[in-house]
Amino acid sequence: SEAVTAAVRAVISCAPFGILGLVFTTVSENGLGIFTEYGKVLAVLVGCMAFVALILNPIIVWTQIKSNPYPLVFKCLKDSFITAFFTRSSAANIPVNMTLCEELGLDEDNYSISIPLGATINMSGTAIMQGVAVVFVAQAFGIDLSTNALMTVVITAVTAAIGTAGVPGVGTIMLAMVFESVGLPAAGIAMIMGVDRILDMGRTAVNVTGDAVVTMCMASLTKTLDRNVFQSRNEDLLEESSKAPLK
Ligand code: ASP
Repeated sequence: SEAVTAAVRAVISCAPFGILGLVFTTVSENGLGIFTEYGKVLAVLVGCMAFVALILNPIIVWTQIKSNPYPLVFKCLKDSFITAFFTRSSAANIPVNMTLCEELGLDEDNYSISIPLGATINMSGTAIMQGVAVVFVAQAFGIDLSTNALMTVVITAVTAAIGTAGVPGVGTIMLAMVFESVGLPAAGIAMIMGVDRILDMGRTAVNVTGDAVVTMCMASLTKTLDRNVFQSRNEDLLEESSKAPLK
């Protein structure tokens, strides 16, 4: 394992030069206007991820706990976001998510399975990135995607996201599979590589909060959720947030 880690580190240490080369090629072929396009891609991605983290996840939690889901969802976001942002790895975030589940009084038998499993297969942020990347690259290459092609992208992006390992940057490698499914040139991945670090931070954060949300729902569905602990923790969080001084 140490030998493999050393080999991977050696390869990764060359990555900045490779990425610089890829960005140089992309900019020289498409002109500086490509940066406006990157800005649009980032805006769409941030919008989609914010929708999942701040609207979809709270709705899912609300259907299970039937009370204000925001304190819990914000706690998940706060605890997991920072680690996910800097490590860019769902796997590295497993202990953080487990501690959160313990604090919420969830059953250890449940979360010790769902959190590691979620860190490997539950990757909504990655699927969003892959969908947006396909549309961006198709537009850049002037390729029209039919409705059938878009449906194929939805299916392959979800499948590729499930197959993505919870470590930095793998979502972009799996993008090759999604591109292949609709006949986009794999060279288009180079256009994403240049901004992948930023995209990876956002998608990992969404991936890990999803794991915690799904675990809460699983606990409720399997009736192992200690509703008293859970509700009182939610109320404490609500109280804490109402007392927090406004800046
Ligand atoms: N870094 C992501 C994660 O660990 C995977 C990806 O590259 O999309 O969740």
